Amino acid sequence: AKRDGKANHHFFEPSLDEQARRRREMELDLRLAIRDGGFELYFQPLYDLRADRLQGFEALIRWPHPTKGMVSPGEFIPLAEETGLILPIGEWVLREACRIARAWPDNLSVAVNISPKQFLAPGLATTIMQALTATGLSPERLELEITESVFIANVEKTLGTLHSLRDVGVRIALDDFGTGYSSLSYLRSFPFDKVKIDRSFVQDLAQEGNAHAVIRAITTLAEALGMDTLAEGVELPEQLEILRREGCQYIQGYLLSEPIPSAGVNELFDEMAAKPRQ
Ligand code: C2E
Ligand code: CA
Ligand code: CA
Ligand code: CA
Repeated sequence: AKRDGKANHHFFEPSLDEQARRRREMELDLRLAIRDGGFELYFQPLYDLRADRLQGFEALIRWPHPTKGMVSPGEFIPLAEETGLILPIGEWVLREACRIARAWPDNLSVAVNISPKQFLAPGLATTIMQALTATGLSPERLELEITESVFIANVEKTLGTLHSLRDVGVRIALDDFGTGYSSLSYLRSFPFDKVKIDRSFVQDLAQEGNAHAVIRAITTLAEALGMDTLAEGVELPEQLEILRREGCQYIQGYLLSEPIPSAGVNELFDEMAAKPRQ
């Protein structure tokens, strides 16, 4: 017999229950991890192609779960956003990233992801100043990565917050550039220090086609607006060569290194320090 709507509904009900149960369980686990300091930061190098040297690292959160193994941020950041738990998590990330970067050579910076909820919550500039003061990291060594989704909530408020962060002296990068609907208009409304070109544009670069033209257009525009460009997700030497040719200043991706625990970053300092050009 043909299933009617009711039967379908009935059929899917257990799985919805199951989903809700898993969410509740993860939320509880997240609360415990916040309480017990159960997160870690990994670091991925940001490389300056023009100066041919390491610029710094992006901090990426990891959750070594007691039974599930390493849980990736893609699995828990959305739930942390929905439940507001991103606020204590984000504060920990900021503090920990600044603390770790303070021990690096002075010319290296650290980039920290700020989620939309965290960005729009009151007092972000104060939280950041406190993290800098408590750890002794100088503001110009901290770069905040935000996505354009913060503009959708409230453009005026977003611009106000961005300017107050600029006053603190930190740098600001626009993350995942090109994936939203109105990237260009947001680029025009605020002088970001850096534009991070989304991985999806880099993926197509090894093949011939208009991907080169897109990269060139973004780097040209960013340069005209006085912003640096970084290409995300660089995995192949061919992509690197094209990016260099099209004038992209910074790169990040598995080609250089995957994100690694902080204990491993020291080895990269020398390996990626400025070398005389051949
Ligand atoms: P994102 O900010 O765009 O970070 C880059 C992501 O791309 C990272 O995934 C990184 O491991 C991955 N990646 C880097 N190079 C390559 C590459 O060459 N190929 C491929 N396929 N992937 C590459 P990860 O660490 O799983 O983080 C995913 C997302 O979770 C981040 O995307 C960011 O939006 C969010 N996230 C991570 N850490 C934090 C955090 O501390 N706070 C907040 N609010 N969000 C975070
Ligand atoms: Ca990022
Ligand atoms: Ca990104
Ligand atoms: Ca992303």
